[in-house]
Amino acid sequence: MATTAGKINVQTENIFPIIKKFLYSDNEIFLRELVSNAVDATQKLKALANMGEVKGDIGKTNIEVEIDKSSKTITIKDKGIGMTKDEIEKYITQIAFSGAEEFVNKYKDKVDKNVVIGHFGLGFYSAFMVAKKVEIFSLSYKEDSKGVRWECDGSPEYQIEEIGNRTERGTNIILHIADDCEEFLETSKIQGLLTKYCKFLPIEIKFGTKKERVKPELKEGEKQEDLKDIEIEVDNIINNPTPAWVKKPVDLKDEDYKSFYHELYPMQFEEPLFHIHLNVDYPFNLTGILYFPKLSNKLEMPKDRIQLYCNQVFVTDNVENIVPDFLTLLRGVIDSPDIPLNVSRSYLQADANVKKISSHITKKVADKLEDLFKKERPDFEKKWDDIKIFVQYGMISDEKFYEKAAKFALVKTTDNKYYTFEEFENLVKPLQTNKDKKVVYLYATNIQEQHAYIEAAKNRGYEILLMETMLDPHYINHIESKLKDVSFVRVDSDTIDKLINKEENLISKLTEEQQKLLQPIIEATVSKEQFTIVFENLSENDQPIIITRPEFMRRMKDMNQMGGGGPMGFYGQMPDMYNLVVNSNHPLMTKIIDEKDPAKQNYLAKQASDLALLSQGLLKGENLTNFIKRSIELI
Ligand code: ADP
Repeated sequence: MATTAGKINVQTENIFPIIKKFLYSDNEIFLRELVSNAVDATQKLKALANMGEVKGDIGKTNIEVEIDKSSKTITIKDKGIGMTKDEIEKYITQIAFSGAEEFVNKYKDKVDKNVVIGHFGLGFYSAFMVAKKVEIFSLSYKEDSKGVRWECDGSPEYQIEEIGNRTERGTNIILHIADDCEEFLETSKIQGLLTKYCKFLPIEIKFGTKKERVKPELKEGEKQEDLKDIEIEVDNIINNPTPAWVKKPVDLKDEDYKSFYHELYPMQFEEPLFHIHLNVDYPFNLTGILYFPKLSNKLEMPKDRIQLYCNQVFVTDNVENIVPDFLTLLRGVIDSPDIPLNVSRSYLQADANVKKISSHITKKVADKLEDLFKKERPDFEKKWDDIKIFVQYGMISDEKFYEKAAKFALVKTTDNKYYTFEEFENLVKPLQTNKDKKVVYLYATNIQEQHAYIEAAKNRGYEILLMETMLDPHYINHIESKLKDVSFVRVDSDTIDKLINKEENLISKLTEEQQKLLQPIIEATVSKEQFTIVFENLSENDQPIIITRPEFMRRMKDMNQMGGGGPMGFYGQMPDMYNLVVNSNHPLMTKIIDEKDPAKQNYLAKQASDLALLSQGLLKGENLTNFIKRSIELI
């Protein structure tokens, strides 16, 4: 039969070196592209068979990927619709290569290759990223078709001929691997790539490496090249053609979701907290399963991320700009043919479909959480500590999510009780409303360090919330801006009477004269830059001197540490500032004033303020040494 030599219709003399160079770091995607084509061809055949367009039984339809080390080839074999000679001319040489030219023209000046998600849809010609020569053997499903062989070595020249002896429907793509790409002849390399890109493709894929071939004997009438079609036993199935996310939720049990989680993340041994099955077909197509992981305190391995698929073909596990930020720490799969994959990530954000998908996912997550909260409150509370980071982040960053989550977001007290905002407000309103009609939410950030203050507040019948994470300061600010009648106050930010200021102040036992006398004596005991002396009329049973840190001072400091708020350097230069509260009703104060010996006066004042500093862990170095000396003298 006659061999036709053709010239690929491109202006650029040889586009392949450009493709190859440009995509070098990503050259592994060739396998995804070629196997996807094989899947498409197989699915088209199945669809035609269902419509009665294919005569007879279509037989086995699995795909095979095979490495042959001796001939340095990788073969991708499908039993799909196949191509006639005309179709190869049309689809492979014309369409594919004009596409390649367009691609090269578009991208040859753009070195930033990260803008494209995995160069998706590069198609057939990505084969030349690893092959110095590509052969196609194909037989169309159409009746009376003749086999066809096509060959191209990466130059614009190609050869095509009809072959008489191909009897198997479908296509073999044979890649003659280039000398600098021989790593792709390693079984483990290809196995790894198939696992990464093809793990959930909908058609069964077998993979095997051909044993060193003993020089085969040609049977009568056979040519050397025909031997390439000899079927070898490849038994290793590398994919799961029906992963959980393509099944109906009603057909899946909790265990099925869990085992799919481990199938996705074989190195993950913790069970997920719960899952969300996504399934939309209008106005966009989206399926998937998201899992709330149990996050450990140590830094998570960043590789266990949400995976994005397009019709079961793996695309990327970087879902930034597709999934809202606060959900990118979830795990699982989303699959959508409606996410544009050959655009830059910044463009992605503006895409209407992507916006819809993102808000749909947000809504689904909120619905699921609300459902759990309503139906399984005890379980929801048990999981709260693990999921609160997502919920809080979502509430801060997404208004719509806030609206839904405000109903089920919980707060936790230092006694490990959980309340919604509404429940908590009702609980504390009677006792914790201040003179400005604000309900004061007391909170602690560290149960150990703030123990004395927590106890004092509890003795008054107050409830104290635990707000101990990095995100909590931001969260508090956000909640305050939303709940207009609520203000958060940390337990140690003022004396117990002033924490929730109700104007029930006791009368001072010291006259103004006496306070003036006392002021310099107390002032001399601490550094003026750090401490402000404040007189307060507390009970005789309270401490003589108490150190507090005003709420706003501490918040500025917190924000500064988190890198938020204020011009750089401003808060940075600010020292830690405290109030030194003198209890004017404590008998010690009268004693200091009445003391005639100035040395003894100073001594008593110093001892009292050192004790206050000590209880806050603020007494250090030389001051601590001196305090100990003084205390020993005293006993
Ligand atoms: P795309 O798959 O995006 O259309 P490709 O360059 O990968 O682009 O393929 C071009 C065309 O060649 C396909 O649309 C299909 O018609 C045909 N084709 C490629 N591979 C196969 C195959 N294994 N079996 C049948 N047809 C194929």
